[in-house]
Amino acid sequence: MNLQRRDFVKTLASGAALGSSPSGRALGREAPGVNTGQGSDVVVVGAGAFGAWTAYHLHQAGHKVTLLDAYGPSSDRASSGGESRIIRMGYAADEIYTRMAMRALVLWKEFSARHDDPLFYPTGVLLLARENEPGSLATLATFEKLGVKHHKLNRRELEQNYPQFALGTANWGIFEPESGALMARRAIQSLVREMLAHGVQYAQGAVSTPAGSGRLESVRTSAGEAYQADVFVFACGPWLPKVFPNLLSQRIFPTRQEAFFFGALAGDSRFSPPAMPTWIDFADEIYGFPDLENRGIKISRDRHGVAFDPDTGERIVAAGSIATMRQIVARRFPALKDAPLLETRVCQYENTSNGDFLVDRHPDFSNVWLLGGGSGHGFKHGPAVGEYTAAKILEGSGVEPRFSLATKGTVQKRSVY
Ligand SMILES: Cc1cc2nc3c(=O)[nH]c(=O)nc-3n(C[C@H](O)[C@H](O)[C@H](O)COP(=O)(O)OP(=O)(O)OC[C@H]3O[C@@H](n4cnc5c(N)ncnc54)[C@H](O)[C@@H]3O)c2cc1C
Repeated sequence: MNLQRRDFVKTLASGAALGSSPSGRALGREAPGVNTGQGSDVVVVGAGAFGAWTAYHLHQAGHKVTLLDAYGPSSDRASSGGESRIIRMGYAADEIYTRMAMRALVLWKEFSARHDDPLFYPTGVLLLARENEPGSLATLATFEKLGVKHHKLNRRELEQNYPQFALGTANWGIFEPESGALMARRAIQSLVREMLAHGVQYAQGAVSTPAGSGRLESVRTSAGEAYQADVFVFACGPWLPKVFPNLLSQRIFPTRQEAFFFGALAGDSRFSPPAMPTWIDFADEIYGFPDLENRGIKISRDRHGVAFDPDTGERIVAAGSIATMRQIVARRFPALKDAPLLETRVCQYENTSNGDFLVDRHPDFSNVWLLGGGSGHGFKHGPAVGEYTAAKILEGSGVEPRFSLATKGTVQKRSVY
């Protein structure tokens, strides 16, 4: 399951295989003069999971990169700014995302191993399923085909292995032993710090919508600073519709999402790794994490919330949601029936019409790339999306149709989970 870069980009790219390899150089061995602060080869706007990893791969390939962000890397407003994100391989029949996740896991593990505090916890991921559930059966078939390590568990095995769960109607499951949890905010901030130490330029500033068409020479921040480059990547996550209102306001839909952290009894290890895995119940649109770094047991709905403005939206969960979540927790984990709520978070998904990512050129600018549409499942893919985007920029070939702007509809109809 150790998918290498070459295999990953080749199998993902529809049609053309890669020309030149962008993975020429390791961080820390940059050519003299990289960190001059003068014009860059590439300006990446947005230092979330997608932008930061794209900057990383472009820099690795020997290019001079400037990263700009309005609020700072993985700020409280960014989609990548949450405490934790799941990395799983299961995507039903959507092999493209299983392959991406496999490649991303290799890169996340390498990255985490470079840091003293783990950024990836191999908690395992448990996918809870019902009899004849097509998505879960398709996941099994994809795992068999691609060689993803997994265990199929029947109801009795689930009960034995995970006595802290009340399984309800779930009567089988798939356990991904190598998957787990990424510490999202810390990971992206560490990645940016690492890049800065090796020559990537970073500046804080809100980039204005580029005007005109043809070749973009520079971008300008609201503070009036201009940044020149040969290529520009706009990886603005849920802000993409604001930055490109004409193009994207009907194609990317930011929705309000809530997350809750509950506290187990003192000394109760049933809700921490290794006893408790990260888990998802797709049929019930709910997922959760064990207690990671003593922050509490996280649980959240994977159901699109209402429209949300990432700049001005307030990040306090609704009182009604707290009551609902308490009921869900009591039903799922009887021992947490009276568990205190330790923390809540409000974040936003940046959904495309069906959940496919957006990686494509801007139709009006020859040297501008649009990158986003993580749609509630993008974080895990960050390293692979960055690698793919860097390769596409450098080779100049066409993009995977599922990532193209042309396939982004104007009506939300989710099909990628
Ligand atoms: C509650 C929640 C749970 C999730 N769970 C998972 C999960 O378990 N697993 C998973 O894989 N994914 C998950 N996701 C999805 C994932 O977090 C996102 O898809 C991913 O983080 C998106 O990254 P991004 O870089 O595209 O966007 P962001 O992280 O939002 O980054 C965009 C950046 O662009 C900057 N920016 C915007 N406009 C401008 C401008 N004009 N000028 C300069 N900078 C600008 C912003 O400040 C921001 O830092 C979840 C998301 C949420 C909200």
